[in-house]
This record gives sequence, C-alpha cells and structure tokens, in this order.
Amino acid sequence: MSDGAATQGRRAELAAALDAVNARVAAACASAGRSPQDVTLVAVTKAFPASDVVHLAALGVTDVAENRDQEASAKVAEVVRLGGCGIDQLRWHFVGQLQRNKATAVARYADVVHSIDRPRLVTALDHAAQRAGRRLDVLLQVDLDPVRADTARGGAAPGDVPGLADAVVAAAALRLRGVMAVAPRDDDPRAAFERLAALAAQLRADHAQARWVSAGMSGDLEAAVACGATHLRVGSAVLGSRPSLR
Ligand SMILES: *Cc1c(COP(=O)(O)O)cnc(C)c1O
Repeated sequence: MSDGAATQGRRAELAAALDAVNARVAAACASAGRSPQDVTLVAVTKAFPASDVVHLAALGVTDVAENRDQEASAKVAEVVRLGGCGIDQLRWHFVGQLQRNKATAVARYADVVHSIDRPRLVTALDHAAQRAGRRLDVLLQVDLDPVRADTARGGAAPGDVPGLADAVVAAAALRLRGVMAVAPRDDDPRAAFERLAALAAQLRADHAQARWVSAGMSGDLEAAVACGATHLRVGSAVLGSRPSLR
C-alpha cells in the first residue's frame, strides 16, 4: 500500500470512529434533553502521532488534548509543520498532571489547562502565561473519590475548590472556566459526576463565568452528559486503543 493509501485509510478509520462517538453524544444529549451544541468533544490524542491530529482537524474536530508536556510540545510543532485544514483554529487542551517546572512550556501552546489543583500551580501558570503574552482558560481539577485513595491521579479536595477559584480569578493571565474530574475507579460514574455537578453549581454561584464541566471519557461519556458535562475528553473511542506508554 502506498503512503497515500495508508493515509486515506487512517482518515477513513478516524472518520468512522468520530461518527460513532458523535452519535453516542447525540443520543446521550437527546435522553438528557440537552443540545449537542452545548457539548464539546475534546479528542485526547496522547500516544498518537501528529498526523492523526491533522486528520481530526480536517474532519471538523476543533479541540484536542494531551497529557504530557514533552509529547505535547513536540506534537504541536509537528502539527504546525504538517499544516492542513482547520489547524490554525485548533484549541489545545492540557489534561495531565502538571508540574510547576513545566508551566512555562505548557503556557506557550495550551489554550485550556484542565488540571489546576493547587495554589502554587496557579501562580506558576499565571506567571508563565504573562511571560508568554497569553491568556489561558483554566479548569479546577477535583478529586471525586470520597476517600481520596489515589492522589497520584491529581485533583483538589472538594473543600479546596472555593479558595483555588479565588486564586485563579486573582491571576491576571488566567480565566476561570469551571471544573474537571475523572470518575474514580470502582465507583459508579453517574454518582461521581452528580457530585461534580453539585460542586460546579456551587462554583457558578460565586463565579458566574465558570460554566464549563469537563467530565466523561470513552467509557462513561453518557453518564457525564446526563450530569451536565460541557466538555468530553475522549481518547480511545476516537483514536483506537493506545499503545502502552511504558
Ligand atoms: C487519556 C485521558 C482521557 C481519555 O481516555 P479514554 O478512556 O481513552 O477516552 C481523558 N482524560 C484524561 C485526563 C486522560 O488522561
């Protein structure tokens, strides 16, 4: 098979997977009485090549996400080099655990950072964004596990959200947009996302602009839509199963 045929084959595969995911989102919205226009699909492209991002942009995907700075920095540069339809309008989301020493790099390419979970990260990202001359949309990542058993996955305790929100609002180069969470393992995602919806409502009461709720992945996007998610972070259902990273 020629390179061109391989490329066309991959684009067709991604188009079919994207159609299937969009159909799931549409069905979930219909049963929740919501408009699909109020739900943004964020394609999580970690572990997949820049050429897949180019295909997705050509297929109408507007938002893509990465979770590791090194991979993301290189991929963003490669996507720009490859070029293509829709590339200039792409919004890049950073959804991984963020270290303070990566803030400078992330602030250069990310448009949205989903993983703000401690005050020192707010300061580091704000300063980095100011130095880069950029303004970033940020979400507060919440740990929904009631016993907070797996702190390696990140996320602030629910009780820390109001203070973190105030810190973001006070940061000149950051815009508070809402909350993000990953459903805890071994928990009913619907119950977890209902806790997130309650937290999101409390946050909105204090900060009307913080209306985004980033929740739901390939396996639980229906539960997230039912609980008011505005941003779905979908990886494997669009791109296929990830080659293991380590
Ligand atoms: C990888 C990842 C996803 C996507 O997961 P899938 O199950 O492949 O859809 C979503 N959110 C975060 C934070 C991730 O790291």
